[in-house]
Amino acid sequence: MTFDPEVVARFRARRRILNAAIVVTTGLLSLSFLPWPEEHASLLGTLLMGAIVVTVVPVLVVWRCPRCHKYLGGAASARACPACGVPFVAPPGRDL
Ligand SMILES: [Zn+2]
Repeated sequence: MTFDPEVVARFRARRRILNAAIVVTTGLLSLSFLPWPEEHASLLGTLLMGAIVVTVVPVLVVWRCPRCHKYLGGAASARACPACGVPFVAPPGRDL
């Protein structure tokens, strides 16, 4: 499969979105370890539901191959699409 600068750029953008979702979710989940008063328990539940939404939705929608749109699963450090084989990183000397 040949190198395509647009696929590499789109993959990088998607990985940034995924990383941002992970950071936001980690922050929200860390709030759940604070000693919350009983009357704020429902707020905590809302925060945790929000954490799930902001993580799961981007992962399912965004975390796909820019070319064949196959879900990439746990291939966060993939260098190529496991389905169609398109490279996600620029070959040496052709960095963007
Ligand atoms: Zn693919």
